[in-house]
Amino acid sequence: MNQPLIGLKLNIRGIVQGVGFRPFIFSLAVRHHLTGWVINNSNGVEIEVDGSSDSLNSFVNDIRHQLPPLASIDTFHIEEQPAQGYTTFEIRRSQENPGEFIPISPDVSICDDCWRELFDPANRRYRYPFINCTNCGPRFTITQNIPYDRPNTTMAGFPLCNDCLAEYQNPLDRRFHAQPVACEVCGPALWYEEDGRRLSQGEAALQAARKALRQGKVIAIKGLGGYHIACDAANESALERLRERKRRSDKPFALMAFSLEVIQKYAIVSDLESKLLLSRQKPIVLLEKSLTNGLPDAIAPQQHTLGFMLPYTPLHALLLEPSTDYPEVLVMTSGNLSEEPIAYEDADAIQRLTPMVDGFLLHNRPIHMRVDDSVMRVMRGSTYPIRRSRGYAPEPIRTSRPLPEILACGGELKNAFCLSRDQYAFMSHHIGDMENYETERSFEQGIQHFEKLFRIHPTAIACDSHPNYLASTYARERSNREQLPLIEVQHHHAHLAACLAEHNLWDNKENVIGCIFDGTGYGSDGAIWGGEFLIGNAAQFQRITHLPYVPQPGGDAATRHPARMALAHLWKAGIVWQDDLPPLSALSDREQAALQNQLEKQVNCPQTSSMGRFFDAVSSLIGVRQHVNYEGQAAIELEAIADGNESGCYPMLFSPTSYTIDLKPFWQALLADHRTGTPTANLAARSHNSIVQLCEHICDTIRNDFSINTVVLSGGVWQNRYLFDRTVFTLENQGFQVLTHQKVPANDGGIALGQIAVADSALKQ
Ligand code: ZN
Ligand code: ZN
Ligand code: FE
Repeated sequence: MNQPLIGLKLNIRGIVQGVGFRPFIFSLAVRHHLTGWVINNSNGVEIEVDGSSDSLNSFVNDIRHQLPPLASIDTFHIEEQPAQGYTTFEIRRSQENPGEFIPISPDVSICDDCWRELFDPANRRYRYPFINCTNCGPRFTITQNIPYDRPNTTMAGFPLCNDCLAEYQNPLDRRFHAQPVACEVCGPALWYEEDGRRLSQGEAALQAARKALRQGKVIAIKGLGGYHIACDAANESALERLRERKRRSDKPFALMAFSLEVIQKYAIVSDLESKLLLSRQKPIVLLEKSLTNGLPDAIAPQQHTLGFMLPYTPLHALLLEPSTDYPEVLVMTSGNLSEEPIAYEDADAIQRLTPMVDGFLLHNRPIHMRVDDSVMRVMRGSTYPIRRSRGYAPEPIRTSRPLPEILACGGELKNAFCLSRDQYAFMSHHIGDMENYETERSFEQGIQHFEKLFRIHPTAIACDSHPNYLASTYARERSNREQLPLIEVQHHHAHLAACLAEHNLWDNKENVIGCIFDGTGYGSDGAIWGGEFLIGNAAQFQRITHLPYVPQPGGDAATRHPARMALAHLWKAGIVWQDDLPPLSALSDREQAALQNQLEKQVNCPQTSSMGRFFDAVSSLIGVRQHVNYEGQAAIELEAIADGNESGCYPMLFSPTSYTIDLKPFWQALLADHRTGTPTANLAARSHNSIVQLCEHICDTIRNDFSINTVVLSGGVWQNRYLFDRTVFTLENQGFQVLTHQKVPANDGGIALGQIAVADSALKQ
């Protein structure tokens, strides 16, 4: 029997544009014999349908349960209305409502269907390096404005050919309204250049690039969110030239291989790690080197990990395609000089990269947003972000309640900013170290772009309380100019709050314990903090204890010279510098005398409680590293040699009455061990174990005194897997609830989220 027709009006928000959502709705409507329409607007997707109540019910049910792979729904509003008398179902043109917005999909790595077509000689897009569809391809990096439609992307300059147009207009095609859809005839093209001359195009260009790589040349490759510099990872002399030209001495290079099987020849890959490698984000995953990996040490000197990723664009797939005598693994490092931001604009890239490379593999699809590769690790059975960028940004961190519109400017190193509105915190892609004009410019452009895309007009600005961070200077100037409230957030409080925020504990009234360990952060007393035990929540914090202050000779300069930190620690502990100590051999007699003098007179010696500098000092003292070439190197190499079977440790005296820590017995015991010839691997392990024990002791005391049972581990030092695994294990064994990062980095790349949480609390008071 025929049921009477009724109407429904649906409004769906979430990631519902550029992910095949409208064709999905179209085919569902057709399947359930509904009439009406679907439309994208800047507020999500709107649907009106007429049908019987049974078919409408199954339609709504199917929307919820059969979503396209890339779509996700945040809110779903349904309203009943009289049937409107529609006779067909149609997809209407997008419309824009000023002030409203919808989240934009991050870039998505090439899907299985496109991969198959790419290597299928019968397909019309066979070997076309820019193949994509509704389920994959560039998104955020090419989006200039919303709604996400072709004229608002950098594909605007490529009018569709008839074949592509037919696919684009067919609701039942996989490329229906896939904005970057293209083919050999109408889309972006590839070419290869050497010495400023265009030598070949299309497939010939690809082969020219492959030939250059096979011959050991270093070439620049224009990719998705910027330029890479590539070379054969097995070729020592190519690696050496790359290091020299990039002025990057020891920092590990990222690697790319064609398939998971290839990666497994070089590294140990767990199930979770392979899932992460194969995920649609295709991040660089830090993996344990296999002992027989056979790759030159120069890729990641003194480390036991390798950073691998799989091809995430069709161009990469073609570039890595296996063939005889062709490199199986390529170095794919970001196209920049040491710490400058990755190049993405063609003229600038060619100018900056020419001195570093022998050739360029280029294409003419413009990159609107520069986005670096993401770096992830698996820790404690889940994703542990080291750098959250391509594939993840600008996907928001979702919150359980609406947030005011706040801009949080982040920190100085590994900067990422964050903007909030509604139930979203939009963490930016990785901006970089705010140490030069280029990075600062991309920070400001990034903020402007996010504010435009997500229609955010900040009503408050949050920043680090450091007096000189460039990001904080921007925040202070802007708050002044626009008369907006400014919330300055203590660095380690921001780390604590970031971890709480990602666990959706924005409004947690109870205090938690924060073991916040990092290299450097501006303390409320003006000292350099970094080995902090806090109690608090997003609204407030109290510094309960910390590593004892030591002088940091020369301030920031000491971060490059662990030997100076080691001697400062000994000096503070009243331990005589004896000639057999490794850090002394790293300094001339004159330097030693100058350092002694500097420490005694306290000239340019800010006080620090940094955990990063503590590990630097240990690394130097036992002869692992005296000078570093990149941030954290001494501590990273110390971790790499630590013997996992060692369970011993050295005493760190913590007084449960005065809440003070005394490191003198630690240094004495470490030195005694060192002098008796204990292997470095054991010294390194025992030093780590000492910090684990200290954490346990302090958390236990705080639990007794304050009845707090939840511990947050945040700050860049927690990327140290040795320390992380053992601390989590020990604390959980003691019955603590341990919160760690899974969505934003524990390092300074995550603090903007914490700044939002702290500012949000401050605004409510
Ligand atoms: Zn695809
Ligand atoms: Zn075409
Ligand atoms: Fe930090």
